[in-house]
Amino acid sequence: MAIIGIVAGRMRNDNHALITSQDKKNQFEHQAYVDALTGVHNRRWMLDAFPRAFHRCELNNSPFAIMMADIDHFKRVNDTHGHLVGDITLKTVARCMTDHLRPHDLLVRYGGEEFAVLLPDTGLQEAKDIAERVRAAIADAMIHRDGLSFQVTISIGITPTRHENLVPGHPHEEKLEDLIGEADQALYRAKEQGRNRVVIFG
Ligand code: GH3
Ligand code: MG
Ligand code: MG
Repeated sequence: MAIIGIVAGRMRNDNHALITSQDKKNQFEHQAYVDALTGVHNRRWMLDAFPRAFHRCELNNSPFAIMMADIDHFKRVNDTHGHLVGDITLKTVARCMTDHLRPHDLLVRYGGEEFAVLLPDTGLQEAKDIAERVRAAIADAMIHRDGLSFQVTISIGITPTRHENLVPGHPHEEKLEDLIGEADQALYRAKEQGRNRVVIFG
């Protein structure tokens, strides 16, 4: 009994050590792929997720779109209300975007106050409708903090893609860079045209 007890105890300890190290690994991976402030995925995660999502659409010959969204005059929010309120604004915007996207859309905090959304199985008209829905929801949302109430808007650039455009052997990283570049150009035009709007690339 004593020996069995000792062996069982050791196995329990070993299992515990294994579970703990697996937990730590999972936690580490989670931290590496998730933005700590907003809780949405980060750019690093997008580099991993894009080839899989895009390739699946290629196989099904279904469309794919990318959206870049940027908070309008965000510097003013920080300058007027302070960095902490700026952070709360970023969290509110990320939350509102999540709430108005579909479950299979992939939201990423791409940089400071810029978000990318990968839209698998999504044609241009649908991408426009989704972008418009997200834009309107954010424009309507009130941000509350310490008796303050204010609103922000976002501008969105979209690029559609069809797989006929794919150059054979063109690596996915380059494909992603091209698409982000196109969505960014559309975003730039949305800013130029007065912000709080959706612009399509091309
Ligand atoms: P535009 O409408 O042209 O996009 O103007 P903007 O003021 O939003 O653009 P700009 O790029 O000048 O400002 C972005 C600001 O975002 C500057 C930077 O301090 C702020 N920012 C970036 N990351 C964070 C963050 O994590 N927290 C806070 N509070 N501010 C951030
Ligand atoms: Mg901005
Ligand atoms: Mg910006």
